[in-house]
Amino acid sequence: MNLLLFDIDATLISTSGVGIRAMEAAGRELFGPSFTASGVDYAGRLDPLIVRDLLVANGHAATPANAAGLRDAYRRHLSEKLPQTATARALPGVARLLDLLEPRAALGLLTGNFPDTGSIKLRACGIDPARFPIAAWGDDSPHDPPDRAHLPPVALQRFRARFGRDADPARCAVIGDTPHDVRCAKANGLRALAVATGMFSVDALRDAGADLALPDLSDAAAAADWLLSA
Ligand SMILES: [Mg+2]
Repeated sequence: MNLLLFDIDATLISTSGVGIRAMEAAGRELFGPSFTASGVDYAGRLDPLIVRDLLVANGHAATPANAAGLRDAYRRHLSEKLPQTATARALPGVARLLDLLEPRAALGLLTGNFPDTGSIKLRACGIDPARFPIAAWGDDSPHDPPDRAHLPPVALQRFRARFGRDADPARCAVIGDTPHDVRCAKANGLRALAVATGMFSVDALRDAGADLALPDLSDAAAAADWLLSA
């Protein structure tokens, strides 16, 4: 069975940057109005690393207490802001693609998001997180420092626990919008389908090593055929 691991932000959904703005608002609540997210790289990165970088960039120690406080406040601000974000939506072709794949593959998530806030984002865009029986989240790396490349083995382990057999990595794919998604797939022998619905062009994603790079998922049938072809 093909295991297909979807990134969330700018792959399945667009929330128009509400996530990073909610993190910034959380920082301002806890640490004062000068707290800023500008200059902190977030596309395709793990939430625990973004939280750490935000703390350090704003002159605060990345202690477990500070990180946990920022994470809690982030969840609150995201829950408040998302319903007011009229542009939060599933990206073109995504609903159709999931409908095509669901009966024929194991669907999964492989994302930098924390599980609670990643699920909040999906629901806000009309996607039920329960459609993805396998998930590797941003805080699931067993290593310190964490890295996105640690997450495919977590997903494969969860596949084994759920289905009682191993998934063949060569039949698994990561679907994402950044070179980080591509790199984590290729580092683990998985296929990489990249979509230019985030900050990176088709050419940049192809140069990063994507096996297939598409402008978006609007041709859901073609994307499904490729994902199921291994
Ligand atoms: Mg993404």
